[in-house]
Amino acid sequence: MPALAAEALDQSNPLAPFRERFDLPDGVIYLDGNSLGALPKAAKGAVLGAIEEEWGRELIKSWNTAGWIDLAADIARDIAAVIGAEADEVSVGDSISVNLFKLLGAARSLRPGGATILADRRNFPTDRYVAQGFARLTGANLQLVDAPEDLAAAITNDTALVMASHVDYRSGRILDVDALTEAAHSRDALVLVDLAHSAGVLPVDLARRGIDMAVGCGYKYLNGGPGAPAFLFLARRHHEAAQNPIAGWFGHAEPFAFADSYAPAPGIRRFQAGTPPILSLKALKEGTRIAAEAPLDQVRAKAKSLTTNFQALVEDQLAGHGFTLASPRDADQRGAQIALAHEHGYAITQALIAHDVIPDFRQPDIIRFGFAPLYVRHADVHEAVHRLRRIMEQRLYDDPRYRAWAAVT
Ligand SMILES: *Cc1c(COP(=O)(O)O)cnc(C)c1O
Repeated sequence: MPALAAEALDQSNPLAPFRERFDLPDGVIYLDGNSLGALPKAAKGAVLGAIEEEWGRELIKSWNTAGWIDLAADIARDIAAVIGAEADEVSVGDSISVNLFKLLGAARSLRPGGATILADRRNFPTDRYVAQGFARLTGANLQLVDAPEDLAAAITNDTALVMASHVDYRSGRILDVDALTEAAHSRDALVLVDLAHSAGVLPVDLARRGIDMAVGCGYKYLNGGPGAPAFLFLARRHHEAAQNPIAGWFGHAEPFAFADSYAPAPGIRRFQAGTPPILSLKALKEGTRIAAEAPLDQVRAKAKSLTTNFQALVEDQLAGHGFTLASPRDADQRGAQIALAHEHGYAITQALIAHDVIPDFRQPDIIRFGFAPLYVRHADVHEAVHRLRRIMEQRLYDDPRYRAWAAVT
């Protein structure tokens, strides 16, 4: 694809105006929106306003006068639209790790007879760690299979819950969630899907697919800022029987009654735990506002186009430089990212960052390029491959500066 063709694709793309709503540094090609989404311009004013006016002037009155108490539910409405759920099936707050714990507890109250949690070793580490910790605490049995494709066949009548990522964080491979859900439901097991790499970038359609539970991230494709609150989804049919193991006062039926004992709020609000982080929610709201406005079919189409162009350019311009594709070849089977494996993957990543192309690195040898369709352009794809080619031709990855390990990769 010549550079001019890339520019023409960008000009005719219906999502082009969305880029203007993000504050991106000049000259930087940001290909890590799958790890930390870009800054929505409106988030600055929202957070500063909340600090100066609401916190600074109105103080505690702002819980009522500035709507702080409703902010998490307001964001849940945006997220529900993005993941194909109802607003009262989504709870916003805490991290994915904490929300996983809550839903594992809920699953136990919904399936008191089933003792086995089924997961796979390729899932993101925190998903496995939380499941391990939950199993230690409760005596539940955690059964691990090697790959998400092995899950469906491993379900038995003893399986209470199957958990998996919708899009694999390393390879970007999309799991066949419908087949998994069908296999789980045929044995009366529940399905919990991690949407960290799909919410906001793929149609997820939770309700239509009959998925029972989900968790997802606020700081990746929803652009909510570093450490933004996450979300959980629980299908309405499970609400009344589901217990939140973190039975905090914000999930109480009447938090400000200060009652002696816990009584869960009706519906999804019982999955709130403690006081919501208002400043973080202010930023997240600006991210989810944009996500809820962006037509997902256009987002998906652009993600496929960006990744396909990147793949073709890599094959054309970087042949013989030792890269292997670690993502599915078929754009229908991958999310908005491309993983390239290379023996010098870490040093190449560092050299790219020094040349203002920002991907990230995942052990042992994967360079992950994320293409957030709301702000990445085809012209960026073109320029990124051009700079990568220069790095490879000049063997810049041999430079010791690029070989020193940083704390966050
Ligand atoms: C990013 C990510 C997480 C992050 O979990 P936190 O507890 O919110 O930090 C979890 N699972 C997957 C699959 C992820 O990609």
